[in-house]
Amino acid sequence: MRYWVHATVTGVFSIVAVIGGAVAAVVMAIALPIDTPRVVGHIAMAVPVVLGFFLPSIIMTRVPFVCPKCGGRGKYGFAAFGNWFMPTYAWSCRDCDWSTYRWSAYYQRKYTRKM
Ligand SMILES: [Zn+2]
Repeated sequence: MRYWVHATVTGVFSIVAVIGGAVAAVVMAIALPIDTPRVVGHIAMAVPVVLGFFLPSIIMTRVPFVCPKCGGRGKYGFAAFGNWFMPTYAWSCRDCDWSTYRWSAYYQRKYTRKM
């Protein structure tokens, strides 16, 4: 899979999953019996939302792609904890130092060279 295909699939999949998770939460809220305990209802609504956020990343990290720089085996994976400790995912290469991660060595070098 080419990098841009992988990136597009990841992006579309993320949006679909988040919307799907929200829809599933609403469906869950409607489908649950009225006398369901409040805590159970909240968990039932939170699970699809959380899955919608994390499932695309988890699945896409298992799909390899071709590195746009060297043609080697690229990997989409966890890079670091970003704002509010939200996990940041980035595309990077196993064979060279190519990465889309902002604070990677590759990105830093590219940025400083321009200045
Ligand atoms: Zn590479």
